[in-house]
Amino acid sequence: AIDKVALADGAVEEFLGSVILIRDITVEKEVDQMKTDFISTVSHELRTPLTSVLGFTKIIKKKLEDVIFPQVQTDNKKIQRTVRQVKDNVTIIVSEGERLTALINDVLDIAKMEAGKVDWNMQPLLVHEIIERAIAATSSLFETKHIQFIKKVETELPEISGDKDRLIQVLINLISNAVKFTQKGTITCRATQRHSEIIISVIDTGMGIAPADQPQVFEKFKQVGDTLTDKPKGTGLGLPICKQIVEHHGGRIWVESEFKKGSTFSFTLPIHTNLPVQVNMMDMDT
Ligand code: ADP
Repeated sequence: AIDKVALADGAVEEFLGSVILIRDITVEKEVDQMKTDFISTVSHELRTPLTSVLGFTKIIKKKLEDVIFPQVQTDNKKIQRTVRQVKDNVTIIVSEGERLTALINDVLDIAKMEAGKVDWNMQPLLVHEIIERAIAATSSLFETKHIQFIKKVETELPEISGDKDRLIQVLINLISNAVKFTQKGTITCRATQRHSEIIISVIDTGMGIAPADQPQVFEKFKQVGDTLTDKPKGTGLGLPICKQIVEHHGGRIWVESEFKKGSTFSFTLPIHTNLPVQVNMMDMDT
């Protein structure tokens, strides 16, 4: 039907009708759910045999190092070379096995979060404690690197409400990345209060991220800067997991970075206000 429509300025225009677009997203949601279930099942099935492969390889490695190799004392060059090769090969199997385990755990973790199947253990928390625990868990990473760790945390930060282990996981991810992508310099962990939120930042003086790559780093499996040949291996799921966790707490996460100068990853946590319930005396029966 073509109607005449009077406009505010007195002009008349022809009204041709309207288009209503209704898209049924039930099927999309079902497919999404199937994908998540499939990923979870496959990951679970992979993890069980991998645990024994890795476990037994570690036992073999230890037996070789403690018992077998010390017994091999020979001038035979071929045997010496073979012992070296076996040592190297077993070390690679263990480290790649650990990498695969980390990848499977990350895939399971993110699939669970996206499906809303995580049991969040929310409780009143002090940011100091989370930071201390994350620093302790990552301290060994600094041993082989010339990186100074600096902590700049305001002393009187108020409580927040959060899942302690999950927030420690966020900071461990950010600090591990900072160590991974920094050759020398400093890594600073800073926490300050701004208005009704706490901002926690991990600042490094590492390789940085090019401006075009910055928006992508929170996407799943995105590992940017591939042209850098010495890029350390990872899963590409650490930051997407951080994002899920931070957003579940009502916060935001972002990166500011200058290529070849360093990066600052920051996230916010809303302050847990536990105000007493206000009672209006006028409304009370006396
Ligand atoms: P992973 O570290 O396992 O590759 P992440 O999701 O944690 O996965 O990070 C995604 C990508 O973002 C990394 O592969 C890297 O390219 C980039 N990135 C993360 N943190 C830093 C950092 N501190 N400095 C430079 N690049 C970083």
